[in-house]
Amino acid sequence: RPRRPAEPKGPQKIPGVDHIVAIASGKGGVGKSTVAANLACALAQMGRRVGLLDADVYGPSQPRMLGVSGRPASPDGKTILPLRNHGVTLMSIGLMTNDDQAVVWRGPMLMGALQQMMMQVQWGALDVLLVDLPPGTGDVQMTLSQKAQVDGAIIVSTPQDVALLDARKGIDMFRQLNVPILGMVENMSTHICSQCGHEEHVFGHGGVAAEAAKLGVPLLAEVPLDLQIRIASDGGAPIAVSQPDSAQAAAFSTIARSL
Ligand code: ADP
Repeated sequence: RPRRPAEPKGPQKIPGVDHIVAIASGKGGVGKSTVAANLACALAQMGRRVGLLDADVYGPSQPRMLGVSGRPASPDGKTILPLRNHGVTLMSIGLMTNDDQAVVWRGPMLMGALQQMMMQVQWGALDVLLVDLPPGTGDVQMTLSQKAQVDGAIIVSTPQDVALLDARKGIDMFRQLNVPILGMVENMSTHICSQCGHEEHVFGHGGVAAEAAKLGVPLLAEVPLDLQIRIASDGGAPIAVSQPDSAQAAAFSTIARSL
Protein backbone atom coordinates (compact mmCIF):
# COMPACT_ATOMS: atom_id res chain seq x y z
CA ARG A 1 0.00 0.00 0.00
CA PRO A 2 1.44 3.39 -0.91
CA ARG A 3 2.38 5.37 2.14
CA ARG A 4 0.78 8.71 2.65
CA PRO A 5 3.23 11.56 2.27
CA ALA A 6 4.44 12.76 5.64
CA GLU A 7 2.59 15.75 7.07
CA PRO A 8 4.76 18.83 6.75
CA LYS A 9 6.33 19.68 10.09
CA GLY A 10 6.58 23.14 11.57
CA PRO A 11 5.08 26.41 10.48
CA GLN A 12 4.33 26.72 6.76
CA LYS A 13 4.13 29.72 4.47
CA ILE A 14 0.72 30.33 2.97
CA PRO A 15 1.20 30.16 -0.82
CA GLY A 16 1.41 33.65 -2.33
CA VAL A 17 1.41 35.42 1.04
CA ASP A 18 4.54 37.44 1.88
CA HIS A 19 3.80 38.32 5.50
CA ILE A 20 1.33 37.15 8.13
CA VAL A 21 0.50 39.56 10.96
CA ALA A 22 -1.79 38.53 13.83
CA ILE A 23 -4.05 41.06 15.53
CA ALA A 24 -4.62 39.90 19.08
CA SER A 25 -6.04 41.00 22.40
CA GLY A 26 -6.20 39.56 25.89
CA LYS A 27 -9.83 40.52 26.45
CA GLY A 28 -12.85 40.68 24.16
CA GLY A 29 -14.53 43.93 23.31
CA VAL A 30 -11.39 46.08 23.38
CA GLY A 31 -11.61 46.85 19.65
CA LYS A 32 -9.33 44.22 18.14
CA SER A 33 -11.63 43.63 15.15
CA THR A 34 -12.10 47.37 14.66
CA VAL A 35 -8.34 47.85 14.55
CA ALA A 36 -7.91 44.87 12.19
CA ALA A 37 -10.58 46.12 9.76
CA ASN A 38 -9.24 49.68 9.73
CA LEU A 39 -5.64 48.56 9.44
CA ALA A 40 -6.56 46.35 6.47
CA CYS A 41 -8.32 49.27 4.77
CA ALA A 42 -5.45 51.66 5.55
CA LEU A 43 -2.97 49.22 3.99
CA ALA A 44 -5.18 48.86 0.91
CA GLN A 45 -5.33 52.65 0.62
CA MET A 46 -1.53 52.68 0.58
CA GLY A 47 -1.64 50.33 -2.39
CA ARG A 48 -0.60 47.22 -0.48
CA ARG A 49 -2.10 43.89 -1.47
CA VAL A 50 -3.85 42.93 1.74
CA GLY A 51 -5.95 40.05 2.99
CA LEU A 52 -7.84 39.62 6.22
CA LEU A 53 -8.47 36.24 7.77
CA ASP A 54 -11.20 36.53 10.38
CA ALA A 55 -10.21 33.79 12.80
CA ASP A 56 -12.37 35.16 15.61
CA VAL A 57 -14.35 31.96 15.27
CA TYR A 58 -16.77 32.61 18.14
CA GLY A 59 -17.58 36.17 17.15
CA PRO A 60 -16.65 36.78 13.52
CA SER A 61 -17.37 40.46 12.90
CA GLN A 62 -15.30 41.19 9.78
CA PRO A 63 -18.02 40.47 7.19
CA ARG A 64 -20.14 43.19 8.78
CA MET A 65 -17.27 45.61 9.38
CA LEU A 66 -16.03 45.31 5.80
CA GLY A 67 -19.53 45.23 4.31
CA VAL A 68 -19.15 41.79 2.79
CA SER A 69 -21.93 39.23 2.52
CA GLY A 70 -22.71 36.13 0.52
CA ARG A 71 -21.05 32.79 0.53
CA PRO A 72 -17.57 32.24 -0.89
CA ALA A 73 -17.65 29.95 -3.92
CA SER A 74 -15.66 26.78 -4.39
CA PRO A 75 -15.69 26.07 -8.14
CA ASP A 76 -13.34 23.09 -7.89
CA GLY A 77 -14.79 21.73 -4.65
CA LYS A 78 -11.32 21.86 -3.08
CA THR A 79 -10.30 25.46 -2.71
CA ILE A 80 -12.37 28.46 -1.62
CA LEU A 81 -12.52 31.81 -3.38
CA PRO A 82 -12.39 34.62 -0.80
CA LEU A 83 -14.58 37.72 -1.08
CA ARG A 84 -13.30 41.25 -1.53
CA ASN A 85 -14.31 44.79 -0.59
CA HIS A 86 -12.50 48.11 -0.02
CA GLY A 87 -9.43 46.53 -1.64
CA VAL A 88 -9.26 43.87 1.09
CA THR A 89 -9.49 40.14 0.37
CA LEU A 90 -11.56 38.57 3.15
CA MET A 91 -12.22 35.13 4.46
CA SER A 92 -14.25 34.60 7.62
CA ILE A 93 -15.96 31.72 9.32
CA GLY A 94 -18.87 34.17 9.50
CA LEU A 95 -19.27 33.83 5.73
CA MET A 96 -19.80 30.08 6.07
CA THR A 97 -22.49 30.19 8.77
CA ASN A 98 -25.84 31.95 9.02
CA ASP A 99 -25.90 35.24 10.90
CA ASP A 100 -27.84 33.85 13.84
CA GLN A 101 -26.08 30.53 13.93
CA ALA A 102 -23.79 30.00 16.88
CA VAL A 103 -20.52 28.21 16.20
CA VAL A 104 -20.67 25.29 18.62
CA TRP A 105 -17.84 23.19 17.29
CA ARG A 106 -15.47 21.19 19.36
CA GLY A 107 -11.79 22.09 19.32
CA PRO A 108 -10.57 19.70 16.60
CA MET A 109 -13.28 20.80 14.15
CA LEU A 110 -12.49 24.38 14.86
CA MET A 111 -8.82 23.82 14.18
CA GLY A 112 -9.72 22.02 10.95
CA ALA A 113 -11.77 25.02 9.87
CA LEU A 114 -8.95 27.41 10.74
CA GLN A 115 -6.44 25.39 8.78
CA GLN A 116 -8.80 25.31 5.81
CA MET A 117 -9.24 29.05 5.96
CA MET A 118 -5.47 29.48 5.90
CA MET A 119 -4.38 26.89 3.40
CA GLN A 120 -7.35 26.14 1.13
CA VAL A 121 -8.38 29.70 0.36
CA GLN A 122 -7.13 31.18 -2.89
CA TRP A 123 -5.61 34.26 -1.28
CA GLY A 124 -3.76 35.23 -4.44
CA ALA A 125 -0.57 37.29 -4.20
CA LEU A 126 -0.62 39.29 -0.96
CA ASP A 127 1.93 41.60 0.63
CA VAL A 128 0.33 41.02 4.00
CA LEU A 129 -2.36 38.81 5.47
CA LEU A 130 -3.82 40.10 8.73
CA VAL A 131 -5.33 37.52 11.06
CA ASP A 132 -8.04 38.73 13.43
CA LEU A 133 -7.68 36.31 16.34
CA PRO A 134 -10.22 35.53 19.05
CA PRO A 135 -9.40 37.16 22.40
CA GLY A 136 -7.25 35.28 24.87
CA THR A 137 -4.56 32.65 24.74
CA GLY A 138 -6.29 29.56 23.40
CA ASP A 139 -6.21 26.90 20.71
CA VAL A 140 -6.64 29.24 17.75
CA GLN A 141 -3.54 31.25 18.70
CA MET A 142 -1.54 28.05 19.18
CA THR A 143 -2.73 26.44 15.95
CA LEU A 144 -2.09 29.56 13.91
CA SER A 145 1.46 29.99 15.21
CA GLN A 146 2.29 26.31 14.88
CA LYS A 147 0.85 25.81 11.39
CA ALA A 148 1.61 29.12 9.73
CA GLN A 149 4.73 31.23 9.72
CA VAL A 150 3.49 34.29 11.62
CA ASP A 151 5.81 37.25 11.14
CA GLY A 152 4.50 39.24 14.06
CA ALA A 153 1.63 40.10 16.37
CA ILE A 154 -0.03 43.40 17.20
CA ILE A 155 -1.66 43.52 20.63
CA VAL A 156 -4.72 45.72 21.07
CA SER A 157 -5.73 46.85 24.55
CA THR A 158 -7.70 49.54 26.29
CA PRO A 159 -5.81 51.48 28.99
CA GLN A 160 -7.81 49.74 31.73
CA ASP A 161 -5.87 47.58 34.19
CA VAL A 162 -8.09 44.53 33.63
CA ALA A 163 -7.46 44.67 29.88
CA LEU A 164 -3.74 45.28 30.34
CA LEU A 165 -3.40 42.31 32.65
CA ASP A 166 -4.75 40.02 29.92
CA ALA A 167 -2.76 41.78 27.20
CA ARG A 168 0.41 40.98 29.15
CA LYS A 169 -0.54 37.27 29.12
CA GLY A 170 -1.09 37.48 25.36
CA ILE A 171 2.35 38.95 24.85
CA ASP A 172 3.89 36.25 27.00
CA MET A 173 2.13 33.57 24.94
CA PHE A 174 3.42 34.95 21.62
CA ARG A 175 6.90 35.10 23.05
CA GLN A 176 6.63 31.45 24.03
CA LEU A 177 5.43 30.64 20.51
CA ASN A 178 8.39 32.58 19.05
CA VAL A 179 6.15 35.13 17.35
CA PRO A 180 7.73 38.62 17.46
CA ILE A 181 5.60 41.36 19.05
CA LEU A 182 5.38 44.22 16.54
CA GLY A 183 3.82 46.52 19.11
CA MET A 184 0.76 47.50 21.10
CA VAL A 185 -2.20 49.68 20.16
CA GLU A 186 -4.10 51.65 22.80
CA ASN A 187 -7.74 51.68 21.74
CA MET A 188 -10.47 53.82 23.33
CA SER A 189 -7.59 55.92 24.50
CA THR A 190 -9.47 59.16 24.96
CA HIS A 191 -12.92 60.49 24.18
CA ILE A 192 -13.67 63.92 22.80
CA CYS A 193 -17.32 64.96 23.13
CA SER A 194 -18.70 65.72 19.67
CA GLN A 195 -21.00 68.35 21.24
CA CYS A 196 -18.72 70.34 23.52
CA GLY A 197 -15.20 69.18 22.67
CA HIS A 198 -14.45 68.17 26.25
CA GLU A 199 -11.85 65.43 26.42
CA GLU A 200 -12.40 62.57 28.82
CA HIS A 201 -10.31 59.47 29.53
CA VAL A 202 -13.13 56.96 29.89
CA PHE A 203 -10.87 53.97 30.44
CA GLY A 204 -7.88 55.94 31.69
CA HIS A 205 -5.08 57.09 29.44
CA GLY A 206 -1.48 56.17 28.82
CA GLY A 207 -1.75 52.74 30.43
CA VAL A 208 -0.78 50.95 27.24
CA ALA A 209 2.17 53.27 26.58
CA ALA A 210 3.48 52.55 30.08
CA GLU A 211 2.96 48.82 29.66
CA ALA A 212 4.61 48.80 26.24
CA ALA A 213 7.62 50.62 27.67
CA LYS A 214 7.81 48.16 30.54
CA LEU A 215 7.65 45.18 28.18
CA GLY A 216 10.08 46.75 25.73
CA VAL A 217 7.70 46.77 22.74
CA PRO A 218 6.70 49.78 20.61
CA LEU A 219 3.43 51.65 21.11
CA LEU A 220 2.12 51.74 17.53
CA ALA A 221 -0.83 54.11 17.96
CA GLU A 222 -3.45 55.54 20.28
CA VAL A 223 -6.96 55.30 18.83
CA PRO A 224 -9.66 57.54 20.36
CA LEU A 225 -13.04 56.29 21.55
CA ASP A 226 -15.06 57.92 18.85
CA LEU A 227 -18.64 57.75 17.63
CA GLN A 228 -17.63 57.99 13.94
CA ILE A 229 -15.29 55.01 14.26
CA ARG A 230 -18.14 52.93 15.65
CA ILE A 231 -20.73 54.11 13.10
CA ALA A 232 -18.34 53.55 10.18
CA SER A 233 -17.53 49.95 11.07
CA ASP A 234 -21.14 49.11 11.89
CA GLY A 235 -22.01 50.43 8.43
CA GLY A 236 -19.51 48.22 6.62
CA ALA A 237 -17.07 50.94 5.55
CA PRO A 238 -14.38 51.44 8.23
CA ILE A 239 -13.33 55.03 8.85
CA ALA A 240 -9.93 54.34 7.26
CA VAL A 241 -11.72 53.94 3.93
CA SER A 242 -14.84 56.09 4.35
CA GLN A 243 -13.03 59.16 5.79
CA PRO A 244 -9.37 58.45 5.06
CA ASP A 245 -8.30 62.05 5.71
CA SER A 246 -9.98 62.33 9.12
CA ALA A 247 -8.05 62.65 12.36
CA GLN A 248 -9.59 59.35 13.49
CA ALA A 249 -8.22 57.52 10.44
CA ALA A 250 -4.73 58.90 11.04
CA ALA A 251 -4.09 56.48 13.89
CA PHE A 252 -4.70 53.52 11.59
CA SER A 253 -2.47 54.93 8.84
CA THR A 254 0.27 55.26 11.45
CA ILE A 255 0.01 51.55 12.26
CA ALA A 256 -0.11 50.70 8.52
CA ARG A 257 3.09 52.68 7.87
CA SER A 258 4.86 50.78 10.65
CA LEU A 259 4.33 47.44 8.86
P1 ADP B 1 -13.09 43.02 19.83
O1 ADP B 1 -12.73 42.57 18.46
O2 ADP B 1 -11.89 43.30 20.68
O3 ADP B 1 -14.08 42.14 20.52
P2 ADP B 1 -14.60 45.11 18.49
O4 ADP B 1 -13.65 45.67 17.51
O5 ADP B 1 -15.66 44.18 18.01
O6 ADP B 1 -13.81 44.45 19.71
O7 ADP B 1 -15.23 46.36 19.25
C1 ADP B 1 -16.24 46.21 20.23
C2 ADP B 1 -17.27 47.33 20.04
O8 ADP B 1 -16.65 48.59 20.33
C3 ADP B 1 -17.78 47.44 18.62
O9 ADP B 1 -19.13 47.79 18.67
C4 ADP B 1 -16.96 48.55 18.01
O10 ADP B 1 -17.66 49.24 16.99
C5 ADP B 1 -16.71 49.45 19.20
N1 ADP B 1 -15.41 50.13 19.12
C6 ADP B 1 -14.20 49.58 19.03
N2 ADP B 1 -13.23 50.52 19.00
C7 ADP B 1 -13.86 51.72 19.04
C8 ADP B 1 -13.43 53.08 19.04
N3 ADP B 1 -12.14 53.39 19.00
N4 ADP B 1 -14.38 54.04 19.09
C9 ADP B 1 -15.70 53.72 19.16
N5 ADP B 1 -16.17 52.46 19.17
C10 ADP B 1 -15.27 51.48 19.12
